[in-house]
Amino acid sequence: MAQDPSSLPPIGLFDVKAQQALIRPEIDRRIAAVLDSGRFVQGPEVEEVEKALAGLAGAAHCVGVSSGTDALQIAMMAEGIGRGDAVFLPAFTYTATAEVPLVLGATPVFVDVDPDTFNIDIADLKNRIALVKAEGKLRPRAVVGVDLFGLPADWVAIEAICAEEGMFALDDAAQAFGGALNGKRLGNWAGAAALSFYPTKTLGCYGDGGALLTNDAEKAELYRSLRTHGEGKTRYEVMRTGMNGRLDTIQAAILLCKLPLLENELKSRASIAAAYDAALAGTVQTPAKPAGAESAYGLYSIALADEAQRTRVQEACKARGVPTAVYYPLPLHHQPAYREAHASALGQVPPLPVSEALCKRILALPMHPYLDDAQAARVTEAVLAGV
Ligand SMILES: *Cc1c(COP(=O)(O)O)cnc(C)c1O
Repeated sequence: MAQDPSSLPPIGLFDVKAQQALIRPEIDRRIAAVLDSGRFVQGPEVEEVEKALAGLAGAAHCVGVSSGTDALQIAMMAEGIGRGDAVFLPAFTYTATAEVPLVLGATPVFVDVDPDTFNIDIADLKNRIALVKAEGKLRPRAVVGVDLFGLPADWVAIEAICAEEGMFALDDAAQAFGGALNGKRLGNWAGAAALSFYPTKTLGCYGDGGALLTNDAEKAELYRSLRTHGEGKTRYEVMRTGMNGRLDTIQAAILLCKLPLLENELKSRASIAAAYDAALAGTVQTPAKPAGAESAYGLYSIALADEAQRTRVQEACKARGVPTAVYYPLPLHHQPAYREAHASALGQVPPLPVSEALCKRILALPMHPYLDDAQAARVTEAVLAGV
């Protein structure tokens, strides 16, 4: 019989409080400075955090924006993506990845994912690009690779395909800031990378926030214009249709307090992942480690044999005070909002069997930098009790 979990220290799936306790005086000081300055929009903290983020990623430019979703939208607006355009993206991801092309009038073409990495499947991507071209209704315009759960997608392959097809490669790195591929951090891959600072991401603010990273100076200028209603050199010159997509000064100030912790937090995430791997590998499917890829471990998801085993593990965890979550219970092409777009994208719709099966097998375990060894051991014991 498991020990009564109420007698043990609680375990969070995420933890936004332990970190805050370490930096609360600095947060209070930084917020007070913004209140004193009154520069709530586009204050100097925004530029300061943009420089720091670009530096951390090793990217030439960073443009702070209002959310990860808006980062994706601004990047696609900068490419002029709209009606008649096909945007290829994985079916197994967060809704925002698919929502943005639809908002812009473009058509998302859902691509299956790799059963080991859970990231976009390169063979299926090629297949669907060929089908779209053969059908001739839509122009293949962009591929959005998602670094799911923090693991970099196969950017070498995606970039090569995009270069060959004249398509834009966009990195949805919302779950993966800090991750790297072949020694280069995300933010250096693809034409641009979209970051989210939603509170539970690897770098989170206390509200909504996001950023675009790019090595292309002209694109960075365009992103700055688009986030501020398409403004030109002067404030009341409108060059293009934009949006209100700015990063708040207070959120930038909060990010500046948190950034100095990030490198150590990424190391903690990796060591918790290693402890989980050591206890679970061989019994359940643990996150893949493709050569050259360093996950940021935004999440740590295992895949069970089937839905019945997942239910048993969920229940065993719950009984032991270990929270779990399912990202994602439905593939996007089965979502009521996207079914029609999926059916209309291609005359014949090839199935997406890996994404469909993973939704029944996936399970996220607690993952944050402030889990201690005893808590990590409780997590793996609970999983093993349920398999
Ligand atoms: C969180 C997330 C987003 C959206 O970011 P927001 O800041 O919440 O708008 C987009 N894509 C993925 C994969 C995400 O996990």
